[in-house]
Amino acid sequence: MGIKVSVEELQAAGFPMGGEPLVALDLADTVMTVRDPPVDLIGDPAASTAWWTIQARRLPLGPTPDPIAVRRLRTAVRDVLDAQVRGRAADPASVEDINATASSVPRSPRLVTTGQGARQETRWHVEHGGNAALAAIAGEVIGLLADPERLGLVRICENPDCSMLFLAENKRRKWCVGTICGNRARVARHYGRTHSLDT
Ligand SMILES: [Zn+2]
Repeated sequence: MGIKVSVEELQAAGFPMGGEPLVALDLADTVMTVRDPPVDLIGDPAASTAWWTIQARRLPLGPTPDPIAVRRLRTAVRDVLDAQVRGRAADPASVEDINATASSVPRSPRLVTTGQGARQETRWHVEHGGNAALAAIAGEVIGLLADPERLGLVRICENPDCSMLFLAENKRRKWCVGTICGNRARVARHYGRTHSLDT
């Protein structure tokens, strides 16, 4: 916690959105679900590498996860979060997938002593397989879903052509990225007004 990724940084790498407080939300936003078919923003190896390289600093050390496992977890995360913002029940299979991924790499606290004192680190036990980054993301989702107050801040962008999810720590936040979706909505309202004046 405390280590941040900024939306500007992700945009510079070609992603429309991200830099949310949880990697899990950024992962959910790597698929544009309003498009038909949905657009996978990390579907090609170069984009996937770019995205994971940026996120690495707030994830446990380890290899980039397998794309199939990433897609599977993302589908589950997307389902439980979409369920939340749309007021429907999540698919029990999604909950199952999240729990399975979270438990795939056990973790333990580890005391590290230095000349300046001691600090606690988390040790990820990858000896038996699994990917620590995915386990950490699944753990974030569990923490979020079990925290009603924080969960209540999860929103979907108000632009009907956008499917991005975000945590509205600023309760007035309506758009994933104000300069993109917020502007589009303002332009649409403007044209709506102009049009109604013309007719
Ligand atoms: Zn948006």
